[in-house]
Amino acid sequence: MDFNDSEIYREATTQLAHAAKIINLDPNVLTRLTYPIRCLQVSVPVRMDDGKIKVFEGYRVHHNQTLGPGKGGIRYHESVDLGETVGLATLMTFKCALMHLPLGGAKGGVRVDPNKLSRGELQRLTRRYTSEIFSFIGPEKDIPAPDVGTSAQIMDWVMDTYSQEVGHAVPGVVTGKSIETGGSLGRSEATGRGVVYMLIEACKSLGTSLDANTKIAVQGYGNVGSAAAKKLVKMGCQVVALSDVSGGIYNAKGLNLDDVDQYIKENKVLKGFADADAITNEELLCCDCDVLIPAALGGVLTEENASKVKAKIIIEGANNPTTKEADMILTDKGVFVIPDILANAGGVTVSYFEWVQGLNQLFWTEKEVNNRLWEIMSMAYQRVYTIHKEKKCSMRTAALIGGIQRVSKAMLTRGFFP
Ligand code: NAD
Repeated sequence: MDFNDSEIYREATTQLAHAAKIINLDPNVLTRLTYPIRCLQVSVPVRMDDGKIKVFEGYRVHHNQTLGPGKGGIRYHESVDLGETVGLATLMTFKCALMHLPLGGAKGGVRVDPNKLSRGELQRLTRRYTSEIFSFIGPEKDIPAPDVGTSAQIMDWVMDTYSQEVGHAVPGVVTGKSIETGGSLGRSEATGRGVVYMLIEACKSLGTSLDANTKIAVQGYGNVGSAAAKKLVKMGCQVVALSDVSGGIYNAKGLNLDDVDQYIKENKVLKGFADADAITNEELLCCDCDVLIPAALGGVLTEENASKVKAKIIIEGANNPTTKEADMILTDKGVFVIPDILANAGGVTVSYFEWVQGLNQLFWTEKEVNNRLWEIMSMAYQRVYTIHKEKKCSMRTAALIGGIQRVSKAMLTRGFFP
């Protein structure tokens, strides 16, 4: 498959071209940034529990390594293909550069529904995939992390397989590992925490308060959404709506998250939670709230629903939750959108901390991790907000400009080889 066919890749390159025009980016740099460095496609044979061999399609893509080793998740999902992987690797380049991390952009994945595999099949798939991409990854080359459908356990298997091949423990080859294998404290909540940090900064720059009257709606009560919701409730805000794959719940007076967690523990999903009205995921996006946090899938805010959104601020916890048509409608309505590459960069930032701790074999306290995260994210926010004001462009374009400026300066001083 040609990656040019992919919607997400085309979207990433269209946004890139738009930002490049605003800053008169060197056309040679733009041309180079439009293409990934290299793409690896692998076939991953797995012996299933019934004894039969099944072959899965896997990828690892390096988009840019000017600033340092590639960084990006491994996704296990039925939608994974070359185009999606190239598009997501491209966004990783600008996300890492925007945060001033010494890392490039990469992404990987296997086309599989992990929920249909047993634990043994999942482990065999992960080990064989790691072995197939072995020459592409490494602590100085490309450092994978969890993404949709993968977890700390899967990263532990990647780390173990890589370490077996080289003959010694290499914790720096992946991030998002369990604490026992060299994971960082604060990593699992980092993306949600970063989402909240960006909301605090947005409220400061808009002159709005974040208090007991602030009503929040969160789509996707998973890793990102639940960490953000819990932190916001701790800060005194009201989380009025939540959802998961089973649907949503709404209570205008605020949801009790301890009760929600207990309900999920017993029932696995939110559907049926008693102390709230049942709503759909679509209704959640347009419910009565001040702040909307999409933290589930991409492409949920569309031309059809954007005009009905009531929130004044949107913080994109998920990657690509807003289509370009929806983006224009939201901008016209005056909704302040903090884009994904800034809003959800807490995860990659603490991944960077984990890599640094792994290389040095010196581990930080959770407080140290959170303080450094705050410092890096609030500085990135200020850079983006300044560009947004100076160039009179959206926060999305401003964030991309921030990332492009950082990586393009390094590309020009390093020069093009040969
Ligand atoms: P997760 O799997 O932990 O949670 C996803 C949540 O979305 C779950 O509650 C799930 O039930 C819900 N969901 C799934 N399908 C849905 C649907 N069709 N409609 C509504 N809800 C649905 O995933 P996560 O790690 O929280 O990631 C969420 C988003 O954030 C993804 O877009 C991911 O790419 C992005 N992201 C995650 C991180 C991270 O560190 N985890 C970092 C950056 C970006």
